[in-house]
Amino acid sequence: MEKEREMEEESLKIRIFPDPVLKMPTAPVTCFDARLAAFVDKMRLTMEMHEGAGLAAPQVGVSQKIALVSFEGSLYVLINPTLLEQEGEQEGEEGCLSFPGIYASVKRPARIRVAAQDVTGQERVHQAEGFLARAFLHEMDHLNGKLFIEYLSNLKRGMIRKKMYKRAMGDDD
Ligand SMILES: [Zn+2]
Repeated sequence: MEKEREMEEESLKIRIFPDPVLKMPTAPVTCFDARLAAFVDKMRLTMEMHEGAGLAAPQVGVSQKIALVSFEGSLYVLINPTLLEQEGEQEGEEGCLSFPGIYASVKRPARIRVAAQDVTGQERVHQAEGFLARAFLHEMDHLNGKLFIEYLSNLKRGMIRKKMYKRAMGDDD
């Protein structure tokens, strides 16, 4: 109980579409200090509390190039990530903490290589395929103000937008 209350206090507020921060450009991280580490830790806590597979800084209102992905017990910290290579194609269902209850099938590359810095500023190259590649790409899109609904047909995207606007107006049906 105590632990739960503590987690709630420490967690960050998730920004829900159509919050404009989700579409804003992000700045690269230049200072790898204790403040960054503390922020990344809060992001991790927030992602775990909401049972997300990933979380990008704009989703908690911070326009910086920081994203997390959680997969099979591993935590990937992607700071200033860049896509080095992509190969193949896969299609699968995606959700997003900024679109509660919305799921849609999205086409993505099947295999990728990504360079990113970790929380200490050390550069690492990650290889990912399948679900992990999908999660990396989804979170990296957030850092460019791109949302998964932008891959959908106009019709499908329109339906989701309408539902989300209604939700924002407090008319949740
Ligand atoms: Zn998302």
